[in-house]
Amino acid sequence: MKIAVVGTGYVGLVTGTCFAEVGIDVTCIDIDQKKIDNLRNGILPIYEPGLEEMVARNVKSGRLHFSTSLAESIKGADVAFIAVGTPPGEDGSADLKYVLAVARGIGENIDGYCVVVTKSTVPVGTAAKVRAEVENALTKRDADVEFDVASNPEFLKEGAAIDDFLKPDRIVVGISSERAEEVMRRLYKPFLLNGHPIIFMDIPSAEMTKYAANSMLATKISFMNDIANLCEIMGADVNKVRQGIGSDARIGTKFIYPGIGYGGSCFPKDVKALIKTAQENGYQMQVLQAVEGVNEAQKEVLFSKVKKHFGGDLKGKKFAIWGLSFKPKTDDMREAPSLVIIEKLLAEGATVSAYDPVAVKEAKHTLGDTITYAKDQFEALVDADALLVVTEWPEFRSPSFEVVGRLLKQKVIFDGRNIYDAAELREVGFAYHCIGVKTDH
Ligand code: NAD
Repeated sequence: MKIAVVGTGYVGLVTGTCFAEVGIDVTCIDIDQKKIDNLRNGILPIYEPGLEEMVARNVKSGRLHFSTSLAESIKGADVAFIAVGTPPGEDGSADLKYVLAVARGIGENIDGYCVVVTKSTVPVGTAAKVRAEVENALTKRDADVEFDVASNPEFLKEGAAIDDFLKPDRIVVGISSERAEEVMRRLYKPFLLNGHPIIFMDIPSAEMTKYAANSMLATKISFMNDIANLCEIMGADVNKVRQGIGSDARIGTKFIYPGIGYGGSCFPKDVKALIKTAQENGYQMQVLQAVEGVNEAQKEVLFSKVKKHFGGDLKGKKFAIWGLSFKPKTDDMREAPSLVIIEKLLAEGATVSAYDPVAVKEAKHTLGDTITYAKDQFEALVDADALLVVTEWPEFRSPSFEVVGRLLKQKVIFDGRNIYDAAELREVGFAYHCIGVKTDH
């Protein structure tokens, strides 16, 4: 089979590379010339564990190609994936201009039957718009080419994207013809061998499934943050409550960790977009409105603790920040809670020295030289008044607290991810603040 993947970001690059890995001929297309030039030289635009080696292997084998030309790459493709961004518009709805521009380009260039698949996260009804764009473009050039549209939302997690793609919990495909179903089944066959299910459904249901999945996960996070905040007021320990409820199989242990709010390129925008879709159709998503409200407030919780600890005056104080990316094992800084915390600290006249294993380059696009970037996690601590743990990278989990205490000016830790043991830290003289546990400091 031959496929084209349009949009070579977190989703498109992983998708294209994983299809190449199982023997399919793949061209990844992007409008960003520099991105494509770099990829041809083995330089990846993103950090994703294991991806660099996999790209190199498949380029070498001749199965994975990179191009800026949709016109050339789409010729003879059995499937064309649209994997471009769908950022939130000003009113929160998903901006479809990139998706529809690609659909037009596909219509202008396909030369034989092709399944046009939206892999980008798009609201219900988008596949119909994609179909109309392709049809219009075909009519304009008076071409009689058959095609189908399909919806194949992506569920990969940044930081574990390759594993998620190669061994998916499920593959969801929305189709409207048997022919498209047959092509998509053949394409995904190599990923189904170990019992991973492929679920075919109508296209609107597939489009909705992605929003429902992300909204459910965001709901778990905001629910747990709400519980954490109440635990703190009432003198309960959310870490124990989490274990207590997670052992109930109906609830489960995943996604019930309290913290400093969800970020990233998906949850915030997808929750907003679903609320907006509902509003446009005369319905209020009451639960999701609360989920969003709790999340906005939660991004400020760590900062409030810092301010309270220092008696409201942060002017001239220096803070060490461990972790900038919105979660570990990615360089993605989109909607990262670190940005909110840093902005607030700087606005109070404090300075920040930050360390992140991979996200510094991305962080500089937004933060520039408003903070300093330490070369390792310990350098960030030197002469700082406190440490803030913002992203739970594995290397932050068990540092030498003797060294941490020696480098810091004051032995104070604000743990936004509850990765440390309060009793252990207090025993060695730290003031320790975390989420959802009452502190006496
Ligand atoms: P991204 O911003 O990393 O990549 C998008 C790419 O599309 C960019 O490289 C951009 O240059 C390219 N592009 C834009 N217009 C183009 C055009 N006309 N032709 C060719 N290329 C074009 O985005 P992403 O994080 O990969 O997300 C893509 C979609 O997948 C979004 O809808 C997102 O919601 C969804 N998604 C993302 C994730 C994730 O973890 N990042 C997971 C599941 C779904």
